[in-house]
Amino acid sequence: MSPRPKISRQLNEPPPVTGFIPKNGDFDPAKRIILLFEEYESIRLLDYLDLTQFEASQKMNVSRPTLTRIYDSARKKVAQAFVENKVISIEGGDVIFEDQWYYCNHCNTVYRKQSKIPNQEKSCPVCKNSNVSSIQESGNWPIRGFGNNSVKNKSIDTEGNCICPKCDLRIPHLRGTPCSTKLCPDCDIRMIRENSEHHKVILKKRK
Ligand SMILES: [Zn+2]
Ligand SMILES: [Zn+2]
Repeated sequence: MSPRPKISRQLNEPPPVTGFIPKNGDFDPAKRIILLFEEYESIRLLDYLDLTQFEASQKMNVSRPTLTRIYDSARKKVAQAFVENKVISIEGGDVIFEDQWYYCNHCNTVYRKQSKIPNQEKSCPVCKNSNVSSIQESGNWPIRGFGNNSVKNKSIDTEGNCICPKCDLRIPHLRGTPCSTKLCPDCDIRMIRENSEHHKVILKKRK
């Protein structure tokens, strides 16, 4: 059998987080479980959006059997992380995104390239730093915050706003819907929680 040509899987957009860490207990940040971008996407489409396997396979541009294989692998990894108390890192895989996405290594802003602005992708729209990475090209996001100082045990209040880190547009936060699932309509930047630790970092770096 000759090897079939490899076709990249299609993703709408990168996941809103780079991974998950166990809340309590002992875990070794070095022994993390790598959940590929396409594995994350299969869970998002099938379990979160309740698409059928047929619909999901079309969205990702793969065959039904391939989708089933990706999804099985994704669920095994998530189960292993839950039971064995392991960090999940979402990265890698053979994917293309519908749009070009970038990540600022300086203030953690995630933004989508706006085609009408030339060279906009080369510096962060929020803090102007040029230390930015293409999420597609690097295949992963720089993993930050794994380790001691990342485990913040603050309870999150259920009111307040999502805010655009660039233009300060605020929309009321919806309980159960992370701010990072919303894009600022003017700036194409992922929104963040107003007054969160991330927001404070951005306010400092924007100056
Ligand atoms: Zn930045
Ligand atoms: Zn904005």
